[in-house]
Amino acid sequence: MERTLSIIKPDGVAKGLTGEVIRRFESDNIKIAAIKMIHMTKVQAQGFYDVHKERPFFDSLTDFMSSGPAVVMVLEAENVIAKNRELMGATNYKEAAEGTIRKDFATDIEKNVVHGSDSPETAASEISYFFNQLEIISL
Ligand code: ATP
Ligand code: MG
Repeated sequence: MERTLSIIKPDGVAKGLTGEVIRRFESDNIKIAAIKMIHMTKVQAQGFYDVHKERPFFDSLTDFMSSGPAVVMVLEAENVIAKNRELMGATNYKEAAEGTIRKDFATDIEKNVVHGSDSPETAASEISYFFNQLEIISL
């Protein structure tokens, strides 16, 4: 079993897509091991996206991520890191495959509805950024 961190970003929550995104995960046999709604501060968003701090879009991205409530989840399934990224689609929704979350709902390369960890190492560090051990259910 593998775990990954998923975020329904502020645009996704604002558009009322929380239920639809969770439905897609559950339909694909992905289990939710932890879930909560948060509203990140700018500093917390900067900490989360620290790997992108030299990128030109960093300031705008962290403004966006701290602009409203987001839903953070720990997802669990076999190969869930890759599986989640497949369900999400490419970063740029214009390049995302048909039927993916970003293809169906993103409106902007930045406001792309969901985040998913991209490796076992980032999954571990991103999960511990938002959740302590007691908050994660052993499924
Ligand atoms: P995420 O890490 O959010 O799951 P990702 O791994 O598909 O997305 P990254 O390259 O890690 O993409 O970029 C992180 C986030 O930064 C993207 O999801 C998007 O919100 C934003 N972003 C990426 N590239 C751009 C860009 N060229 N212009 C504006 N925002 C961008
Ligand atoms: Mg990424």
